[in-house]
Amino acid sequence: MRQPTMKIFTPIPDPYFQDSDTQQPKTGLMVQLRSTAKTYFNGQKALLDMNLEVKQGEFLFITGPSGSGKSTLLKLLYGEELPTQGKVIVDGCDVASLRGDRLSLFRRRIGIVFQDYKLILQRTVAENIAVVLQAQGYTRKEIQRRLEPTLKLVGLLNKADCFPEQLSGGEQQRVSIARAIIATPPILLADEPTGNLDPDNSWQIIQILQKLNSFGATVIVTTHDEQLVRRCGHRVVQVRNGKLYQISQ
Ligand code: ADP
Repeated sequence: MRQPTMKIFTPIPDPYFQDSDTQQPKTGLMVQLRSTAKTYFNGQKALLDMNLEVKQGEFLFITGPSGSGKSTLLKLLYGEELPTQGKVIVDGCDVASLRGDRLSLFRRRIGIVFQDYKLILQRTVAENIAVVLQAQGYTRKEIQRRLEPTLKLVGLLNKADCFPEQLSGGEQQRVSIARAIIATPPILLADEPTGNLDPDNSWQIIQILQKLNSFGATVIVTTHDEQLVRRCGHRVVQVRNGKLYQISQ
């Protein structure tokens, strides 16, 4: 198998396996919402006229009650849903304009973590993580090169051959983070990543996300865990009734 060629984007940087001190300062915007709204086909208005800018290398929390529109907002960012008004620009791309190969390549540059892990139960930890790179045509050698530091980063080197059911919830979420980052995407979106976890495991997950952020990744996390948000001191926006409010800078 050949390495994937990146015709449209510049080659993916490899920030997570380098010393964070060697990273160039990031100056541009990673996310821009401009008068963005989303109404679902059934008429449900999920998001109303939102404006948001997230800088490259920023860590942002999106809070808000259940049903307020947090997941919809993330879905717009990775192109799972399209806005019904306004623009969604991620990593310089107008997401609504992407189709076919361009959309696939765009999605490769976004790591996604879900509340319910979405692991393949019949595959080991290592296989669950490698599946992303296999699908993208990476060589076995390159997959092996990336696997060990990624497992180490999430503290699961000794669990590579376990199956998901042999792991705790926190460990399963760490596998899903490893899967999301093994291709070193410049942006990581996490939708309620600590929603099923106790406070200790939640804190471990947030620390891993903070570490990735310190390596240069832009990280956007939805949560309704106010305590966790306060403990971190990152910028916070809140979604309420489909509108966005700045909570802290
Ligand atoms: P949150 O993530 O904050 O819980 P969501 O973004 O999932 O909120 O949902 C926002 C609103 O949009 C809710 O009223 C929800 O019922 C509605 N919604 C979400 N997905 C769909 C869909 N596919 N079709 C219709 N309505 C939806």
